[in-house]
Parts: sequence; structure tokens; C-alpha cells
Amino acid sequence: MNPFQGARFVLAAAETRQLPPDAGAEIVFAGRSNAGKSSALNALTGTRALARTSKTPGRTQQLVVFELADGRRLVDLPGYGYAKVPLPLRARWEKVISAYLRGRLSLRGLVLIMDVRHPLKDYDRQLLGFCAELGLACHCLLSKADKLSRGAASAALQSVRKELPNDGSVTTQLFSAQNGLGVEEARESLAALLDRAISLG
Ligand code: GDP
Repeated sequence: MNPFQGARFVLAAAETRQLPPDAGAEIVFAGRSNAGKSSALNALTGTRALARTSKTPGRTQQLVVFELADGRRLVDLPGYGYAKVPLPLRARWEKVISAYLRGRLSLRGLVLIMDVRHPLKDYDRQLLGFCAELGLACHCLLSKADKLSRGAASAALQSVRKELPNDGSVTTQLFSAQNGLGVEEARESLAALLDRAISLG
């Protein structure tokens, strides 16, 4: 059974105070624009149009919240990886992201989507830095794995893993929304993140 089946749009929040009550459990999806985040959300939830909601004009600077059948939540953090975004807007948005990651008690983990051919860019490292600082678990999806040969994809996975902490705080896998590679593995890892009790230490 897919625990993410039936996710439905709840709201989009420009500020953290507009989010649903901070109870229960949620995970947040992040990635540079074009990394394949919408496709990953659609593949994981089995809901083709789900992440189109996040791409509606005006939502590019909002946290988009989806609710699962059991009241858990997936939050889509729109990527701001555009050089085009004017600096003041970018600074404001970075503040919102930082406030969200630091302050959200129900947040159990971050899912970082990176194109397997272009992983660990500045934006990704910034988010990984937040996770390390906050003790937030991170699961990385190396997306579009179908674009590489099996050997090249596996080499890319190993090289990313080598750069990341190997204490269990960050996990990484190959993923393809196109051919389904890693979709089941991702569902299991993300369900486990949502099930995690928060460590209060
Ligand atoms: P987002 O901006 O991160 O939400 O990225 P999208 O999900 O919209 O994907 C960006 C582009 O990459 C689109 O043209 C997708 O069709 C393509 N894409 C996304 N995932 C995959 C994948 O697993 N395999 C391939 N080959 N293309 C993908």
C-alpha cells in the first residue's frame, strides 16, 4: 500500500504563521528549480496533477501544504535556485525558509531532490547545512537517474554519498519519476521519517 496515495492540497503559505497548526508530523520537499521535485511528488503520491498546484503563478514563493489521509503532511518548498530572483525577494524568502526549518516542531525531515547529473550545488549545500545544524534528518533523491547508464548512476550515487555525513543523518538514493526507479524505496524511507518520534535531546 502506498502511504502517500490520496494526498490533497490544503493551503499555500507565504509566511510560517499561515501554516496549519504545528501538530502531527510533516516532511518538506526541497530542490533547485527543474531538479524534478514536482515529478517526484507526483510519482510518490501517485497523483499526477498534485504538484502542478505548486507551480501555479504566485505560488513560487509559498510553502505549499498537502495532507495525507491520516492527517500527516507533505510540504513543498518552492526552489529559489534562480539567479533571476531579485536579491531582496531572495533574502525575504530565505528568512521564511529558515524560520520554517528552525521553528516547525512537527517537521520530521527534509527530502532534497537533486538532478543526478548536477548534485550538491550551493543551494543544496545550504539546505544540508541547515539540516546538520538543526539535527534534522535528510533523505536525498538523485533524480532523473534514467538519464544515466546504470554504471554512471551508481558512480554518481557513491560520489555523493562520499561527500555527505555517514552517521545516518543523511541518506541518499537514486530516483526516476520517469521509469519508477527508487519510487518504492523512497516511499519507505519517507514513511519511516514521518513515523520517527522526535528526539528531544
Ligand atoms: P521541478 O522544477 O523541480 O518541479 O521539476 P519538474 O518535476 O517540473 O521537472 C523538470 C523537468 O525534468 C521536466 O521537463 C520533467 O519532465 C523532467 N524530469 C523530471 N523528472 C524526471 C525523470 O525522472 N526522468 C527524466 N528523464 N526527466 C525528468
